[in-house]
Amino acid sequence: MQAWTQYGSLFLDPKKEVFAMPELPDITVYVERIQAMAQGQVLQGIRLANPFLLRTAEPAPGEFIGRKLEQVFRIGKRIVLGFSDEHYAVIHLMIAGRLHWRVPKPPPVRGKTTLMSMDFSNGSLVLTEASSKRRASLHLVKGRKGLEVFDRGGVDVFSCSSEEFREAITRQNRTLKRALTDPTVVDGIGNAYSDEILHRARLSPFALTGSLGVEQIEILHAACKEVLSEWIDRLRAQSGSAFPEKVTAFHPEMAVHGKYGQPCPACGSPVQRIVYAENEANYCPTCQTGGKVLADRALSRLLKNDWPKTLDELERLRSGSLGEDGALGKGPKE
Ligand SMILES: [Zn+2]
Repeated sequence: MQAWTQYGSLFLDPKKEVFAMPELPDITVYVERIQAMAQGQVLQGIRLANPFLLRTAEPAPGEFIGRKLEQVFRIGKRIVLGFSDEHYAVIHLMIAGRLHWRVPKPPPVRGKTTLMSMDFSNGSLVLTEASSKRRASLHLVKGRKGLEVFDRGGVDVFSCSSEEFREAITRQNRTLKRALTDPTVVDGIGNAYSDEILHRARLSPFALTGSLGVEQIEILHAACKEVLSEWIDRLRAQSGSAFPEKVTAFHPEMAVHGKYGQPCPACGSPVQRIVYAENEANYCPTCQTGGKVLADRALSRLLKNDWPKTLDELERLRSGSLGEDGALGKGPKE
């Protein structure tokens, strides 16, 4: 039998890593570290291992060689490297794409997990993707105007006013989880930080945006700013002067994300989850849903009509036939 570790709600092969898309705090730290390592340097070479990575035909990668890296910034969850004369390289890491800084130059790029290397005189920026699904992308763009297509239009929680935030969130009546993770509504937030923000704001992930009062939306906006800036600070401190090598959506310091079955740090109730599509939302019923345990399709199927409506009922069910670990649906593979 293999040894499995439970990490949050996911049973993981200890040798494997579970990947999730880097969000605003991770991207911010990547941008800052690339600035520190490579800004001001001249690009000496660009090596592509996989033809699918590059999604544009013009300008050619060769046109970037000999150009100075003048600025690094983000557009949503994309990282933009701005070279001289408005030549931009736009990188989207998607789920399993990660960046690395290698000194000296890494060995020849081979297309297993290493997809690209941008070589500077003092080191190389290397893109890897640890998945057979090739989702990470590189767009090469000439002219600032060419960057506009990458802006999905979501508000920046740090710079928008409370009115702008409210207008964006309530434009459509949908669940808070969906609104927060939609890049056309809010910029840079995904599955992990939306769980953390909603827990901080004490709002249910499945409350409808149209049902929120002005004050609740202000609390949500404040929670976005608080949680994201706390995490930017924390990830900055963790990476220090090195390049971030452990970019993950699961952190022991998180309150609810990836913490299914573990005690909520605010009240001690076990964190719950809803599995939907390929995602799951984690929340604390006491802090966020008035004690109600929300119906989860995967769990509902298992429990049929026995679906517990309250935390007390859930606890009773668990101490009975379902075992104490709370791992109802997904068990370890043997
Ligand atoms: Zn709680």
